[in-house]
Amino acid sequence: MNSLPDIEKPDESAYLNCIRCGLCLAVCPSYQVSLKEAASPRGRVALARKGLDGELELTPNLYEQMYGCFACMACNDICPVGIKPAELSIAMRHVQEQQKPTEWKKTLFEGLIPHPWRMELATLPLRLYQNLGIRRLVYALGLTHLLPGQLRDMEAMLPRLPQRPLRQVLPVLTPAQGKTKHRVGFFLGCAQSLLFAEESAATVRVLSRNGCEVITPPDVQCCGMPALGYGRLDLVQEQAKHNIRLFIEADVDEIITDCATCGSTLKEYGEYLKDDPEWADRAAYFSKNVRDVSEYLAEIPLEKPKGRVEARVTYHDPCHLRRAQKVWKQPRELLSLIDGLDFVELPESDWCCGSAGSQLITHYKTSLEVLDRKMENLASTGAEVIASGCPGCQMQLNTGIQQRKMKVRVVHPITLLDEAYRSEK
Ligand code: SF4
Ligand code: SF4
Repeated sequence: MNSLPDIEKPDESAYLNCIRCGLCLAVCPSYQVSLKEAASPRGRVALARKGLDGELELTPNLYEQMYGCFACMACNDICPVGIKPAELSIAMRHVQEQQKPTEWKKTLFEGLIPHPWRMELATLPLRLYQNLGIRRLVYALGLTHLLPGQLRDMEAMLPRLPQRPLRQVLPVLTPAQGKTKHRVGFFLGCAQSLLFAEESAATVRVLSRNGCEVITPPDVQCCGMPALGYGRLDLVQEQAKHNIRLFIEADVDEIITDCATCGSTLKEYGEYLKDDPEWADRAAYFSKNVRDVSEYLAEIPLEKPKGRVEARVTYHDPCHLRRAQKVWKQPRELLSLIDGLDFVELPESDWCCGSAGSQLITHYKTSLEVLDRKMENLASTGAEVIASGCPGCQMQLNTGIQQRKMKVRVVHPITLLDEAYRSEK
């Protein structure tokens, strides 16, 4: 297994400052719900400092503290001495997986996630459950209440699934409407293809509408974020090489994604492969040209829709978009172009929603406690729609909304833009 990119461990003087500081405690969701020092960024720094030097036994409690981090990066942003607790937690997971690999994770991250066809097969029962009307029946008969709480919440987080994964439906080449001004590649992420197909179909329509010829390579693999979260950089590097090769062959100007998590990972391929002489240049070039769809549309810039969307809308900043990519103005600008849309800012819009990809499954209680704060803020806006460009956040928000029986629709900002264009007719 390869090593992680150079993680800067705090030196003695930075660490002494850290012990006396505590600034990050106020912004850390896992600390705010547990109020335990070990679950704070500062606590994780202290553990990782020893752990990375091999001075700590890999106990279940150590695993818990490292995997309990939401990787929201709020601590990285606020730290006055430049320590990156979120990165240190990931580095510790890497050490743990190297020394005591977990068998089921090995199967999941090597045998399933990098293989689109296997992922499609694995999620087939869910598509059948929804598309054969079984879900409707379960809800009509109130049977969800018979499920244990966690299973009920996981069921609630599911969006309306497509009949077929978008990867099997979307053409490789979508021509530009009107004159072709740009040739872009579209990175169709796993969650978008399997769960949020309508959103990515909307992304391609909007790009096409704005003069883009869109190439969607159907054989892309997972961006690598799940494997990275479990400390398997070697797998991320393999997936990165596969994806870079596909887009270089496609000969596109930019690579667009509508998934905040994919975007934050694709933009790091250059970093992950910087020590590989065969791939370093290609990876750096690839990452330099990756754009979140809202970022890209702000650059070209997009055509203002003539149609309308009548709704009170708010916006949740995904950590992987706002903190990892510094993209937060663009989605708001995009929404401001839609006539009829009444935008209201969400208080603490950049506070983590508690998803972190899989925390609702692995850290159910903490994940819901973090979500509570988001839901209270959402309720205060009176919004009928909440937009967010990350599938993990969308599923988490869906859970909170269904738990509280709120009447709020969760969408990707691009969906609203697409609706505005389509309402022109
Ligand atoms: S903000 Fe930085 S220096 Fe301060 S406690 Fe947190 S990690 Fe340590
Ligand atoms: S990344 Fe987020 S959850 Fe993890 S230690 Fe930092 S602030 Fe806390």
